[in-house]
Amino acid sequence: MGYETRLLIDGELVEGEGAGVEVENPATEETVATVGSASAGQLDSAVEAARRAAVTWAAMPGVDRTPLLRSVADALRSRTEELASIMTTEIGRPLTESRDEVEWCAACFDYYAEVARSEIGRVIPPIESSQFAVVVKEPHGVVGCIVPWNFPLLLLCWKLAPALAAGNTAVCKPSELTPLSTLALADVFAELPAGTVNLVAGAGETGAAISAHPGIDCIAFTGSVETGRNVGIACASRNARVNLEMGGKDPFIVCSDIGRDGVGIAARGGAWAAFLNAGQVCTSSERFYVMEDVFDDYVAAFVAHTQSLIVGDPLDPKTDVGPMVSAGQRKKAVDQVEAAVAAGAEVLIGGGGAGMSKGHYLEPCVLTGVPEDAALLTEETFGPVAPIVPVKDLDQAIERANSLDFGLGANIYTRDLQTAIRCLKEVRAGSVWINDPLTDNDAGPFGGFKNSGIGRELGTEGLDAFREAKHVHMDSVIEVKDWWYPYG
Ligand code: NAD
Repeated sequence: MGYETRLLIDGELVEGEGAGVEVENPATEETVATVGSASAGQLDSAVEAARRAAVTWAAMPGVDRTPLLRSVADALRSRTEELASIMTTEIGRPLTESRDEVEWCAACFDYYAEVARSEIGRVIPPIESSQFAVVVKEPHGVVGCIVPWNFPLLLLCWKLAPALAAGNTAVCKPSELTPLSTLALADVFAELPAGTVNLVAGAGETGAAISAHPGIDCIAFTGSVETGRNVGIACASRNARVNLEMGGKDPFIVCSDIGRDGVGIAARGGAWAAFLNAGQVCTSSERFYVMEDVFDDYVAAFVAHTQSLIVGDPLDPKTDVGPMVSAGQRKKAVDQVEAAVAAGAEVLIGGGGAGMSKGHYLEPCVLTGVPEDAALLTEETFGPVAPIVPVKDLDQAIERANSLDFGLGANIYTRDLQTAIRCLKEVRAGSVWINDPLTDNDAGPFGGFKNSGIGRELGTEGLDAFREAKHVHMDSVIEVKDWWYPYG
């Protein structure tokens, strides 16, 4: 299959003039393409194109942007198979999951196509009867979108759709591990004016150049805590607007009130939440806190279900779990498992290479007996690993859930209303899912507490991330006000 490796700058497809980045298929370890990074001059050209396009795009009434944003959604859907196949080739995840991602991207564009034409601010009460006051929400200008590899198109669309809907233009950079699906999007934006969306490629240096670029007004970033902090510092140093979506270590609480049927369902839900995309989801469940009286049943059901999962070729429709994205990501997860075992943990299932001679495969792994201070329970793993820990009651479960400096998502299984309400109030996380793990909603905000993020994507909050509020105060009467000078 031939891949598009050219950048999209000002409506033109051009070869990247900077360093070449090799893209690996994690299932075969073969290099499938080499992508030229954007040179400094090409990045400048992309930013200039976005600045020119921003003048007309910002002035366009929302209702005229709507069909253009819908055209993006339609184009995405019409290319589902192609885009899904490219993502599976560069990430290694099963095709079913890649197809879902394309549909979620289209749905996000559909949502913002409508939301952004329904308001651009609000009317507020004036302070005198002769006055009229409004808040007008205006675009920032040019948005730089910096995206990780684990959901390359979705995390781009969560930024791009609201940014465009709000009247901004954009310069977008995918991860160096997964540039092909993003560069394949050029046609998807064909109906938008040239320069409205620019797609560049490159690794951390290109990301840093985008964060520091004086022509970019706002950075929308998703990635690790460490990189996010650097992006935040770069933006703070020039007072650019910034939205940061960073790492997590999500807890998954299972309460004893769910009964025997519930334990089986929560085990399947837990396995999916831990192993989806080979555990490489920012909201992967990475710490299971299970009440003692259902602990043994839960572990048994979790292990039995894990045993039934098919690990293998991500292009095979029967495959549940494909390889991890890279040798480095796999090593990080294996190192954490090995350190936990050395400290006394027991691997109940998984942790091997699934008998594959090639590819970064890691069989879904379930452990018990992991010490509380092990990296496997305190640092992001980002792999298909589920440590299950007994807790004596809800107090202890909530205390453990809140014990880290992360706060992205949290899952709870309970049938008890009081427990549900306590958890939704007391668990410190940007998303709290009760009895339905990891379900996002375009209309609801997504983001993190603590080290997991600053700002929100999706919902009206995600639109406001790309708008500046302007207070407009008008008086219909021209008069000398009695609070002016002189005071005496
Ligand atoms: P990463 O931080 O290594 O890279 C993310 C992006 O930043 C890439 O495009 C990279 O090229 C770029 N980058 C690297 N150095 C940079 C710099 N100095 N300045 C600007 N940009 C730079 O993250 P990753 O390994 O690609 O992704 C995995 C991480 O992303 C995990 O920690 C995961 O939790 C997180 N993540 C968070 C969310 C969320 O919504 N909170 C979603 C998905 C992934």
